[in-house]
Amino acid sequence: MSTQLVLGDWLIASADEPARADWGVAVAGTTVCDIGHHRDLIERHPTASVMRRPGCVVMPGFVNAHIHLYGVLAHGITPHSPPSGFDDFLSDYWWPQVEDRLDSSMLATAARQVSIEAALGGTTTIFDICEAPNAVDDALWAIAEQVRDVGLRARLSFEATQRAGADIAERALRANRAFIDSCDAEDIVGGVMSWHTTFTCDADYIATAHGLARDAHAWSHAHCNEGRHEGATMRSRHDCSTLEFYDRIGVLDDQLHLSQCVQLEPIDLELMAARGVAISHMPMSNCEVGGGIAPVPELHAAGVRIGLGSDGYVNDMFEVMRMAFHIHKARLLDPSVAPARQVVAHATSIGAASLGLDRVGSLHLEWAADLQVVSMATPTPVTAENIFDQIVLWRSARDVTDTMVAGRWVVCDGQPVNVDREAAAAATQEEAQRLWAISR
Ligand SMILES: [Zn+2]
Repeated sequence: MSTQLVLGDWLIASADEPARADWGVAVAGTTVCDIGHHRDLIERHPTASVMRRPGCVVMPGFVNAHIHLYGVLAHGITPHSPPSGFDDFLSDYWWPQVEDRLDSSMLATAARQVSIEAALGGTTTIFDICEAPNAVDDALWAIAEQVRDVGLRARLSFEATQRAGADIAERALRANRAFIDSCDAEDIVGGVMSWHTTFTCDADYIATAHGLARDAHAWSHAHCNEGRHEGATMRSRHDCSTLEFYDRIGVLDDQLHLSQCVQLEPIDLELMAARGVAISHMPMSNCEVGGGIAPVPELHAAGVRIGLGSDGYVNDMFEVMRMAFHIHKARLLDPSVAPARQVVAHATSIGAASLGLDRVGSLHLEWAADLQVVSMATPTPVTAENIFDQIVLWRSARDVTDTMVAGRWVVCDGQPVNVDREAAAAATQEEAQRLWAISR
């Protein structure tokens, strides 16, 4: 097995450790096989090929813990009726104008485009939630083909819901389970069971979905309290909070990932911590829909695993990190919360843990060789003390030069290695115009 050394000016092996100057990693096969000072790596691996990236940091790739790949097709679309709240956003705009119009061709094209954008921006893992009731039977396989072409690690799910009728609801559960069963445990692409929310799925349906996942040793996912609507609905229907409802029906466990979690009652935080539920935080899209600000520092302090996601909105993970860095300081009137190093951890190692990914998210020995190389040509010096701030505050997706997933370069010198970027962009323009035309 050939070995490759990746040597930048800095190595961040993990957001839990200090950055080290003149250190790099050695990669063999799909994993990291050595970490050390440049000089020692070259001495220990005299026949290895060497990629030198002066002026750069080598660091773990981002885990985008919540994305809707199809969302790119709606970037810039004009809603028929401007939403006045989160539930209106769904019922009057997103469902009729976007989700219900999507077909497999659109989903595949969007998946290719956004996977390329993700790789170019240093993201090595995505968790996609596909919401397209009229493409239920083949959506996951169509998306998987594109993600594999680009070379990303991925967890894919189809968002099952009863809002589109009993037949689609049933087929969505079957599709998720069939996709989960079709993926090999060693594959970089795997499946996750997903249902929408407690206001679009009833208790029996959710319990069935969760059982199908548990029987396949797979994780489950749901959107949770993205605004006030879901919690208020649970209060009026069942006189309990959303998390209490989930606890009553027996689906709260440490293989459940709840996304958004913006409007929480105190009991919700307690139950998340007690049951080991993982979550993802989408600060930018929460602002877009007027949903509020998730209590992330409080959840982190309670030991909840929190990944960062783009929600398919602004997919540059540097922008997402920047928002996560700022918004909690403003809400809590406290500049000490959400420091840059912790935000990087949410975007890498903790994000991977929030999806149950084993040995992903840090560049430890025998962990996945999922990494990005970021130019640190900042106007002020980079030091071990400031490097996390320099990255979170003053870098962007455009500063990523190279991206590796499972030991394989997927971006090199700022270009995707395996796919045609211009062709994907042209196809995305066409499919967006088709969606916008049939949405009118
Ligand atoms: Zn979402």
